[in-house]
Amino acid sequence: MKTFSATEFRKQFPILQTVSDSDNIIYFDNAATSQKPVAVINALHDFYLNNNANVHRASHFLSAKATKSYEVVRAKVQSLIKAKFENEIIWTKGTTESINLVAQSYGLNFIKAEDEIVISMGEHHANIVPWQHVAQQTGAKLIILPLDDNGIIDLSEAERLITAKCKLVAVNHISNVIGKINPVKQLITLAQKYSAKTLIDGAQAVAHIAVDVQELDCDFYVFSAHKMYGPTGVGVLYGKQALLESMPPYQFGGEMIKKVSFTGTTYNELPHRFEAGTPNIAGVVGLGTCLDIFIEKPILPMIDYEQQLCHYLYQQLSKIEQVQFLVKGCPDIPVFSFTFSGFHHQDVASHLDSKGIAVRAGHHCAMPLLEGLGLDGSIRVSLAAYNTFNEVDVLVKQLQALCLGESAPQSSTNTHIENE
Ligand code: PMP
Repeated sequence: MKTFSATEFRKQFPILQTVSDSDNIIYFDNAATSQKPVAVINALHDFYLNNNANVHRASHFLSAKATKSYEVVRAKVQSLIKAKFENEIIWTKGTTESINLVAQSYGLNFIKAEDEIVISMGEHHANIVPWQHVAQQTGAKLIILPLDDNGIIDLSEAERLITAKCKLVAVNHISNVIGKINPVKQLITLAQKYSAKTLIDGAQAVAHIAVDVQELDCDFYVFSAHKMYGPTGVGVLYGKQALLESMPPYQFGGEMIKKVSFTGTTYNELPHRFEAGTPNIAGVVGLGTCLDIFIEKPILPMIDYEQQLCHYLYQQLSKIEQVQFLVKGCPDIPVFSFTFSGFHHQDVASHLDSKGIAVRAGHHCAMPLLEGLGLDGSIRVSLAAYNTFNEVDVLVKQLQALCLGESAPQSSTNTHIENE
């Protein structure tokens, strides 16, 4: 059995290398974006140094080389998420653009006034606002699935709320605030009962759990490279081939056409019909390098290590009286959101920042979720496979110090005190 060494893995991330104690970075904001391994940084550098040319214009050697290194990554993504066909993988600039593509192309053309679009209370704004727009434009109704006390989509409520009127169910695989895996397979089966399409926002899932789109049988699956050790500006839209083929293009221009004349244009085949213009070629090549971590390296031991870290952090945080988790129970991936009695979330984050610990404070682009919980923000600690037990101990020590009034923030600019 292959093993995973966090120490060895960590060495691949130059930004995490300690120069001296005072420069130490404890990076616990991985749900926002992960750090990049040196291999990915080198791949970007190497592309511009040795391979730079536009793709799919293979009249010269350099373009053929760039196209090959770019297109090979599509097959790697296909293999990562177990898609049936390579042309079901569409490049976008991120999860947000992938959802917008589906909303603009599928949503605006196939959803009608009497239809319903179903999302959940726990969505990121990227999976709310595009559907709000579609609802406004088409007259369709937006239905919101509630979460249960554990912070996952309530299936019995879903059974009541997903009806024959439903045209699309768009929910996250794992919430970026709560870190719990939603029962997406059951929701997909439920949607299929009414022939509704399904979109799964996998932005927080792909780096932490194995994803199999054929097993899930979802219609669309979306994610971003930058949350899984890859570059920013690259994302993936997976869609079932026949469905993608039935959808009109989302943007128009070069690359997405077969033939253009002033009397009309014929569009290209998949995947190019959804990829107008010059793409982020270097970014895709960089993603390819980072996918080797997930495809060739021992993914299960890495997940296992993250699970151990996750349970350890949960145990340690649970011992601190001031920590109040947003929902019951340990998260499924190491993404923890909590408030801290007596302190504003921003003050806690500032205190931790002054100790070299990067966490996020605020609404985490999920305002309706936070509002529904009666909060205007929380502290979010999110870990990756390069984080260590020692780093968790430092975080816990600093939170305890805050309780004891040691190194409390100098002054609070925030007047709102959580949970007092
Ligand atoms: N959905 C979820 C669950 C996310 O966590 C994020 C990023 N925080 C997004 C969507 C949007 O991703 P991006 O900003 O990379 O487009």
